[in-house]
Amino acid sequence: MAAVTELSRGDELRAFGDVVSTCTRCALAQGRTQVVFGSGAPDADLMFVGEAPGFHEDKQGVPFVGAAGKLLDQLLAGIGLAREDVYIANVLKCRPPGNRDPLPDEIEACESHLWRQIELIEPRVVATLGNFATKLLSGKPTGITRVHGQEQETTLGGRRVLLYPIYHPAAALYTPRMLEVLQSDFRRIPELIGRALEPPAPLLARVSAEPAVQLGLF
Ligand code: URA
Repeated sequence: MAAVTELSRGDELRAFGDVVSTCTRCALAQGRTQVVFGSGAPDADLMFVGEAPGFHEDKQGVPFVGAAGKLLDQLLAGIGLAREDVYIANVLKCRPPGNRDPLPDEIEACESHLWRQIELIEPRVVATLGNFATKLLSGKPTGITRVHGQEQETTLGGRRVLLYPIYHPAAALYTPRMLEVLQSDFRRIPELIGRALEPPAPLLARVSAEPAVQLGLF
C-alpha cells in the first residue's frame, strides 16, 4: 500500500503562498511588483498583522523590511525574539499606490487570505499593528488609541487566540511618546504567549446550557 504523505504546516503554508502569489481579486494586482504573502515561522506562537506592504516590501516580497520593520526588529529583540521566531503578515498582500490607506473593497477581497494564514499557523497570540488590522480582526470599529494594550480572547481561524492590539511601529517612528507606549505594550507579550486559553465550549455543553424553554420545543 502506498504511504500517505502528510503535508507539514510549512508545506501547506508555502503551497497557499503560491496560490496567493497570482491573486487578481482587486485592482492592486495591476500595480504591484509582487504579492507580499508573509514571512517567519509557520508554527509561530506569536503572529503580527500589519496594514499593507510599502515601497521596500513590494520590491523585496517580504513584510516589514523598511524603517517600520527595523523598529519591529528592535522591539522583538527587546523581548528576546527574532523575526524568525514569529510570523509577520499584513491585512493587504499588495502595495496600495503611494502607500495610501487600504480601501474597504480591497480589505474585503484580501481578508480570506489572512484568515487562512491564521488557520494554518495556529498562533496563540495575534498582535495587530495599528487601526486596520485591529478593526478587521476584532470585528469592531474601536480605534487603536482606545484599545492598544488590551488583550482579548477570541476565536480566529477556528481556534482560541489572544488578540493583542498595539500601535503600528510606523506611527511610533517619529513620536517618542508613542514609542514608549509601544515598548511598554511589547513587554507584556511573553506573558500573553504563556497564558492558557479557555478551549471553546463543546457543542453539547452549549446546547445543554440553553434555556429550558427552548428544550420544551422537542
Ligand atoms: N507597514 C505595514 O503595515 N506592513 C509592512 O509590511 C510594512 C510597513
